[in-house]
This record gives sequence, structure tokens and C-alpha cells, in this order.
Amino acid sequence: MLKGWRRYRSVPIIYRIGAAFVLGSLAGLTIGEPMLALQPLGDLFVRLLSMIVVPIVIFTLLMGVRHLTPSSLGRVGGQVVGLYVVTSAIAVGIGLAVANAINPGQGLTLVEAEIDTQQTPSFTEVFLGIVPENPINAMASGDILAVLFFVLVFGLALAMLQEESENARVQNGVETFFDVAEAGSEALFKIVWGIMEYGVLGVFVLMAAVFAEAGISALSTFALLAATLILGVALHISIVYLGAIIALLTQQSPISFLAGIKEAMVTALSIASSSATLPISMSNAEDNLRVDEGIYGFSLPLGATINMDGTGMYQGIVAVFAANLVGVSLTLTEQITVVTIAVLASIGTAGVPSAGLILLTLVLTQLGLPLEVVGFIAGIDPLLDRLRTMTNVTGDLAVTTLVAHWNGAVDFDDGVWASSESGPAGV
Ligand code: ASP
Repeated sequence: MLKGWRRYRSVPIIYRIGAAFVLGSLAGLTIGEPMLALQPLGDLFVRLLSMIVVPIVIFTLLMGVRHLTPSSLGRVGGQVVGLYVVTSAIAVGIGLAVANAINPGQGLTLVEAEIDTQQTPSFTEVFLGIVPENPINAMASGDILAVLFFVLVFGLALAMLQEESENARVQNGVETFFDVAEAGSEALFKIVWGIMEYGVLGVFVLMAAVFAEAGISALSTFALLAATLILGVALHISIVYLGAIIALLTQQSPISFLAGIKEAMVTALSIASSSATLPISMSNAEDNLRVDEGIYGFSLPLGATINMDGTGMYQGIVAVFAANLVGVSLTLTEQITVVTIAVLASIGTAGVPSAGLILLTLVLTQLGLPLEVVGFIAGIDPLLDRLRTMTNVTGDLAVTTLVAHWNGAVDFDDGVWASSESGPAGV
């Protein structure tokens, strides 16, 4: 028994989770409904991850800010936000191009369906919302942007005090703050790996539930829509992230990059939330990609909230899909409108399950297309959401690696980059 357990534990966690992903999907498809009863075991996995999101963001960012100055933060921040916006716009463009070529939605009949027309917050609301009225409230409600803002300001103030104060007690206090942050984030990364052990069961159950719910019938009805998203995502990941950002601009092996972020990708696929995947993305950036916490501590929480390439791409694809359902075609101006709204709206929406579906109401309303489409595709959305989330998380990590490279804040000679470069496979 104990030997079996040891053997099980000796298999790398990513293989165990990968197997759980495949077996869970198969169990959902073959056993169907009874698998839904296990859902709470899957929800537990997401809860465990969500539990550590706020503390890990606070500790890691505080630890990273130690070595930042306001000017270096401004430079890094500009690069991160700039890349997030540009890659999102490209993603929507790719989505539109692929959708125009494949034309999903032709031949389908729209059925009336219940829809939730919840509105996304306006741009001013998002902008003002970055500054918390009460930082403790922001932490309690898991408002990552507001937490990020407060911790950055507080951390920079601590770093300035460290330089300027002549009071030894203040100096000691600042050191203690930073030391506590370092110990805290190390402890949380330990917890992440404990949670991943449970994740083997969690992922199995989550995938079983999603396939039991959506089933093969949803898959076949919306096969073309799913195929369009799969192609768009594959093109975006391989051309923009792996080709342009990692191989060309960072001059590193795309395979090493993928190897370094595989846990984050599989988790995103399994739980459909880039915010709840944050602890795993941060841990991959730290342990495998060897990026300094000063960069990823800031760029990854920010990306989980504002950078959603997969979500933006989905808006473009569904806009074409909806237009096809009602037999109209989108003009160039309308397509440019889609890009603008999709990029802006995805900035203001948190990385949580089904966020992209709600955003759609905004895009469709703007284009005067039927909102019923949202209800129509809701059945297959839990599956598509996973692909979008995986793309969102991969985008955050690719941009983080490039910005770290530009700022000399990544160690390519250590960890996954080095080991795969000189590894037996020669990649
Ligand atoms: N679930 C996605 C995420 O968390 C957002 C979406 O619905 O597209 O990144």
C-alpha cells in the first residue's frame, strides 16, 4: 500500500494531473449525469486555490518591490500594459480572420433561450476602481487590481524609507516587513504544491462534471464554433507567444517555455479561471521560468485581471457566428468596433469562469446582433471557456518573460530554460 503510494508520488505531478484531465473527461462522457454528484470535490480544488490568491499576491509583490524604484516600476508597468493591449488586439484580429474564413453558424437555427444581460462595468468605473476606498475591503473581496495598487504604493513607500530613514528602528521595521513577505511567499508556494496534490482528484471531478453536463450533443451542434476557437487559439499561441515573443524577441526555446508553464496551462484548462490559476502561474514563473518576483509579482496578477487574449478572440469569433445566424455579414468598420470593444471590455472584466460569455452581451448589443446567441451557446461555453482561460494565462506568462528579459530580470541559465537547452532531447 505504502509502496504503491510512493510510486504514485514519484510520478511528476503534471503527468498525474494530465491523466486525471483525460480520464475525468472520458468518465463524464461515458458515465454522464451521476458524475455531477461529485462536483463539490472539484469545487474544493478551486476554493483551495482561490484561498491563497490574495495572500500570494500581497507577499510576492511586497517582496518584489524591495528592489524597485518608482522609475523602474513605471518602465516595467508601461511595457507590461503595452504588450497586454497589443497582444489582445492581435488575438481579436486573428479570431475575426479565422471566423471569416470558417464561417461558423451557417445552417444553425437560433432557438430562444434565457440570457443573463448583466452589464460589464464602464471604463471610468474600472479606472476609479483601481484605487481602493478601503484596502482591507479590497483584500477581503479579492479585488486584485485594487490590492495591487495598494500593495505597490505601500511597498514603494517602504523601499523609499529604507533608503532615506536614519532611524534604526524604522530601518529594522522595513527589513522585517520585507523578510516576512519573503517567508510568507515561500510558505504559500509550498501550499500551492500541496493543493496540486489534491488537484489530481479535483481536476478529474471537474472535467467529469463539465463533460457530463455539456455532453457530446453540445459538442456536435457547435463543432464548427469550437473548431474556429481551437484554430484561433492554436495560431495565436504558436505565432504570437511562441514565435514572436519567446523565439524572436526573447530568443529562447518555445518548448522550454511550454515545459515551464505546463502546470499553469493544465490548471487553467481544468478550472476556467485565470484568477484562481494565479498561484500556479506565479509558482511556474518563479521556479521554472526563473523570472524575478519584482516582475511577475506585478505582471501576473495584473494580467489575470486585464489581459485576456482568449476572451477577446472569442468575442470576435462569436460576433461573426451571431451575424451568420441572422444572415448578415459584418462590415470592416463593425469588425474594427469588435476589436476595440473586445479589448477594452476584457480589460475591465475579472478572470473568472464565464466572464467572456457576459462580455458578449456588450459586443452583441453594440453590433445590434441578437442577444439570444448568448443563451444559445451557453451549453458549450464551459468547454470553450477552458480554452480561452488557458490562452489568457499563457499570454500573461509570455509577456512576463519578455518584459523580464528586457529588464535583465530572468535567469535563462538556470531552471527549465537551461535544463531543456542542454537536455537529452536537445531542445
Ligand atoms: N474564464 C476566463 C478567465 O478566467 C474568462 C472568460 O470567460 O473568457 O480568464
